[in-house]
Amino acid sequence: MRLTFIGSGSAFTTDGNYHSNMLLESKRSGSKLLLDCGSDARRSLAERGLGHADIDAVYISHLHADHVGGLEWLGFRRKFDAACSRPKLYIGRPLVHDLWTHTLSGGMSSLQGEQARLDTFFDVEAIEDNGGFTWEDLYFRLVQTIHIMDGFYLAPSFGLLFEINSTRIFLTTDTQFAPEHLGKIYEQADIIFHDCETADAPSGVHAHYDKLKTLPDRYKRKMWLYHYQPGPLPDATSDGFKGFVEKGQAFDFNHK
Ligand SMILES: [Zn+2]
Ligand SMILES: [Zn+2]
Repeated sequence: MRLTFIGSGSAFTTDGNYHSNMLLESKRSGSKLLLDCGSDARRSLAERGLGHADIDAVYISHLHADHVGGLEWLGFRRKFDAACSRPKLYIGRPLVHDLWTHTLSGGMSSLQGEQARLDTFFDVEAIEDNGGFTWEDLYFRLVQTIHIMDGFYLAPSFGLLFEINSTRIFLTTDTQFAPEHLGKIYEQADIIFHDCETADAPSGVHAHYDKLKTLPDRYKRKMWLYHYQPGPLPDATSDGFKGFVEKGQAFDFNHK
């Protein structure tokens, strides 16, 4: 299995990096799972010689445009390409209704001579609370993160914990700094890909580098950092991390 960061930038990045979306590819079957599909996805995939027809499945962590903004492109291109079938869409059940009603339906519900729904474009597998999904014999457990709390409602957002040949991988997707909630997952994981904001003015909805730096060394030495802002980066390895993930960086995991 190869995990490639087709981008490792923040939501508003314009410096040549792309949205923090990843591609997990089975070297055995060639099957490809896109982990989040932001509005940069068509360009970040194209830069790697890939297009809509190459994506077999998509996982959506939450509804910000850097994670879902490419679904209109993917859905339309797949539907109107006779050689393509509907891609699989793995998504937490709490997100399904809003993904269609609040995010995609404005542009996608009316086709020429046809009224469309989410499953017109995607083969939807809604994941129940405390559940997960299986792709290419790997099980991905959803881990709810604290990303946006409006004072009354915690907007659903789900990272992933999965295991490839005994290596446990935790991909936070977007999360605040919340070691009190994520500490147990940090303990379990062998490698952690962590949302990391590097902006001078912290947004409060992403884990900021200055806070991640305060984590115990035993966590930091498992951590690769991504979803960072353009501009100079701190020296993550000297602070005990594995480093910042660069655009295009790939991680290989042996898969029996
Ligand atoms: Zn994001
Ligand atoms: Zn977000």
